[in-house]
Amino acid sequence: MKILVINAGSSSLKYQFMDSDTHEVFAKGLCERIGIDGRLTHKVPAKDQKFEAEIPMPTHGEAIQSVLDALTSPEHGVVKDVSEIDAVGHRVLHGGMAFTESCIIDDACIAAIEECIPLGPLHNPANLMGIRACQAIMPNTPQVAVFDTAFHMSMPEKAYTYAIPYEYYEKDKVRRYGFHGTSHRYVSARAIDMLGNPAHSKVITCHLGNGSSLAAVVDGKCVDTTMGLGPLAGFAMGTRSGDIDATIMEYLMGRYGYDIKEMLNILNKKSGVLGISGVSSDFRDLEAAAKEGNHRAQLALDVFEYQVRKFIGSYAAAMGGVDAIVFTAGVGENSASMRQNIVAGLEYMGVKMDPEANNVRGKETVISAADSKVKILLIPTDEELMIAQDTAELVKK
Ligand code: AMP
Repeated sequence: MKILVINAGSSSLKYQFMDSDTHEVFAKGLCERIGIDGRLTHKVPAKDQKFEAEIPMPTHGEAIQSVLDALTSPEHGVVKDVSEIDAVGHRVLHGGMAFTESCIIDDACIAAIEECIPLGPLHNPANLMGIRACQAIMPNTPQVAVFDTAFHMSMPEKAYTYAIPYEYYEKDKVRRYGFHGTSHRYVSARAIDMLGNPAHSKVITCHLGNGSSLAAVVDGKCVDTTMGLGPLAGFAMGTRSGDIDATIMEYLMGRYGYDIKEMLNILNKKSGVLGISGVSSDFRDLEAAAKEGNHRAQLALDVFEYQVRKFIGSYAAAMGGVDAIVFTAGVGENSASMRQNIVAGLEYMGVKMDPEANNVRGKETVISAADSKVKILLIPTDEELMIAQDTAELVKK
């Protein structure tokens, strides 16, 4: 089926139009500066074509219309008519406890996504704008919502429960949810395939990008993950702090008079490896600065690697072993040194890298040594493919 995958943010909208069976990507692109002025970048991989234009986009409606115009344009289009788009799959950040899997978008689904706005206040409203714009412009095309949280809903109670008064879970749904679920689901399924589809498997998936998280996956089901109620939790990221002692907030708010918004802005936007290094949130910049002897850039990399390694150890303990460790996303797919440093010292657990095999970028590869008990795998993530496949499956039912 021909599926249009939409990932709507508050002022941007990414799209990919693809075949869910052959995996061919017909076109993909990005609308930027929605609500400000508007800019479209549209690419057609088969023809190596790139089209860029300033297009007024006061709302997500104009953005979606510009995507459909590009997809059907005589010069750089890939279909003759919008009716050739079989269905639309939307990435939605927070599905709360309501969604354990993807769902066809109807009034009940929209109401449930709306109910999750307090849990995903930045993303869910933007995701809904994308959905509503598509519904208005393509009322006869089926739409599906695919949630970042859904894969993690199989976590057991002991993994998702915070040690705070239980009433906050019961009344306010405060619990660990986890994110990047579509990526963890895709790469863990690929890993199980690469392991030869054993009856039982224990996999740790490391999604290391600008935002990062790990998941522990037993027999294809998530049993733990590093992100929490929101995507600030876990280990140090590009600009996010990961887990910190909550006392730090009170201490700094008291010393500098920050309100909670300012404090959270520091933890979300000014922390992580950017905060430690003062150099950049981009791992390429950090690796370059560290090579030139910048101590804080090196420290930021050390902290990141150390925290990821600690979570790998804790997930091996949580699962009672591990068959495969998977690296994915921008850093995980591209930085051989980061992968090498993260698993360094895990030989006692049967984790042994093959440095030559590890010298690879963005290609599905076994990068562990032949005698490594635990397979180390590089698997490029493909969230768009997962969204397209979920969408096709639900629409065919
Ligand atoms: P993502 O959020 O998955 O798009 O990943 C973005 C992150 O990947 C950025 O912090 C980039 O610095 C990082 N990245 C991309 N290429 C490389 C590379 N060759 N080496 C290290 N980090 C990289």
